[in-house]
Amino acid sequence: MRVLLVGGGGREHALALGLAGDPAVEALVAAPGNPGIAAVAQLREVTPTDPAAVAALAVEVAADLVVIGPEAPLVAGVADAVRAKGIAVFGPSAEAARLEGSKTFAKDVMTAAGVPTARAYTCEDAAAVARALDEFGAPYVVKDDGLAAGKGVVVTDDRAVAERHAAECGRVVIEEYLSGPEVSLFVVTDGEAAVPLLPAQDFKRVGDGDTGPNTGGMGAYAPLPWTPPNLVDDVMRDVVYPTLAELRRRGTTFAGLLYVGLAITPSGPRVIEFNARFGDPETQVVLALLETPLGGLLHAAATGTLGGHPPLRWRDGAAVTVVVAADGYPAGPRTGDVITGADRAGIIHAGTRRDADGTLRSAGGRVLCGTATGPDLAAARDAAYELVRDVELAGAHHRTDIAAAAVDSRITIPG
Ligand code: AMP
Repeated sequence: MRVLLVGGGGREHALALGLAGDPAVEALVAAPGNPGIAAVAQLREVTPTDPAAVAALAVEVAADLVVIGPEAPLVAGVADAVRAKGIAVFGPSAEAARLEGSKTFAKDVMTAAGVPTARAYTCEDAAAVARALDEFGAPYVVKDDGLAAGKGVVVTDDRAVAERHAAECGRVVIEEYLSGPEVSLFVVTDGEAAVPLLPAQDFKRVGDGDTGPNTGGMGAYAPLPWTPPNLVDDVMRDVVYPTLAELRRRGTTFAGLLYVGLAITPSGPRVIEFNARFGDPETQVVLALLETPLGGLLHAAATGTLGGHPPLRWRDGAAVTVVVAADGYPAGPRTGDVITGADRAGIIHAGTRRDADGTLRSAGGRVLCGTATGPDLAAARDAAYELVRDVELAGAHHRTDIAAAAVDSRITIPG
């Protein structure tokens, strides 16, 4: 199988490692890729959000499967353009990707499907915003309606901050605050059959102890030792299958990766959000533990044959990833700094570039992450931090508490 992977961040580096490790994948091309991905794939230039360009590249490289990593190409219709060429693609249509691209659409689908989630209002003016904030009270949850790379959400006790964010975004979704630890569940689906991967937890705030602004994600770990025993089965029954059925009913079958972001509240799991692609950095830890060949799994989802796919196999133990971010991230990351100590197994490249002379430099807010596995969470965590310790990048910062509460059994479900 010849595979074209679209994207160039940490998630795509993790996907590239998984695909390259699948004996059925005879050729892997990544576009645009990054210096980490270059070690396992041939890189090609492309604008990932240009449907015609990606489709043409898929034809040129004779791809049997195109895997689309990020959300922006999906929302732009890249999967549709590739499918129109008769090439199998892992990633939903633009219509179905609205599950991520529009918070209002997602809430609509959830309501129609009876999926447990926070009550919410879509608001377009200050009066509607004020009414919604009054009704739900603090902490206030205000979400930009469009794609915001995980950073369009403000959760705050400060009414003025909530109102300002709403005014800046224009159209927002304001919703009830959900209390409880968060879980990211990835589900591979062909639109009908659905296979859950291991639940993971990510860390959205920039600072230790969940302080500071939201980011794209500062670290992750899997598996989760603290979740209720039936969590995955319950979420498949109450969330995933009803959502997929509702999308089929609307004629917008969702094939690809359904990312279910959950809060484990005292009344059970509630959906915080859907995404239409693998999460970053949870992908790094989930795929580090997946033993089943990745190419075959994604190909089955892309060709409507997932129902016949054998059950997934997982490695024993745990995985942890720690993101190293650039000075100034998330507000205004500085780029162009020299990175050393990053060319080793376990370092996943996210925002890096390489000069002609081989010098590695930062090229994004989240620069790289140290990903390690171990016989248990404590060992995986130590190994991930060891990787990060050896990386030198001026002004870089990372959280020091990734997976710490889980290692110490300090995560509890309120109630
Ligand atoms: P989202 O982009 O919708 O995932 O939101 C980003 C982050 O904001 C989530 O991971 C949560 O930490 C937080 N968040 C979003 N919605 C809620 C909610 N209704 N209650 C509590 N926290 C939320």
